[in-house]
Amino acid sequence: MSERSAGTLNLIFLGPPGAGKGTQSRMVEEKYSIPQISTGDLMRKEISSGSSFGEEINSYIKLGQLVPDKIVISMLLHRLDHDDCKKGYILDGFPRTVEQAKSFELALAENGSFLSGVIAITVADEVLALRLGDRRVCKKCSTTYHLFHNKPKKDGLCDNCGTPLSRRRDDEPDVIANRIEVYHQQTAPLIDFYQNRNNLYLVDGNKKIDVIFQQICVIIDKLT
Ligand SMILES: [Zn+2]
Repeated sequence: MSERSAGTLNLIFLGPPGAGKGTQSRMVEEKYSIPQISTGDLMRKEISSGSSFGEEINSYIKLGQLVPDKIVISMLLHRLDHDDCKKGYILDGFPRTVEQAKSFELALAENGSFLSGVIAITVADEVLALRLGDRRVCKKCSTTYHLFHNKPKKDGLCDNCGTPLSRRRDDEPDVIANRIEVYHQQTAPLIDFYQNRNNLYLVDGNKKIDVIFQQICVIIDKLT
């Protein structure tokens, strides 16, 4: 891996579903010119490209098994070695477990690299439930809307293609409650892990999008 000078921004974003993590990382991506990297997207890309990583990953997915951490991490390190990550990156959706966090930390250290900071967006469970419950999606073109923050121009219809909007199964109330619960179980230990490393920065995600972004920028500007 190429040498990293001071001033690089190697970030991890943590946050429950509905915290606006995707929106915020896109805003950070734009302002600081560092790419947002999602391991889920990365795996899908590798599979469709037919790379050796892709084939290996697919062999697990086909069997309904979890892709081993070792493979996910080497795929990730390979991606982080690309030129567009020289100034840093934002990891979204990884790590999900303390095991992964430890292995990743070790792998970075072996490459002479390190994390600049872990930004965790926290949101009250009731707020999350409301946000997710108001999400709508166009089944035809996959555009997502929100009845509050990102309304379609015509009630209930997709702006792009006019298809009636629907709720994803994932966003039904019973599933939402479960997703939030799973998030807490998985992430609480991760938050502790990074807190013990003095590397954790909490952001109040109950605020509006631009206020959350301001908090994030203050943190990032201190990290560089
Ligand atoms: Zn549409």
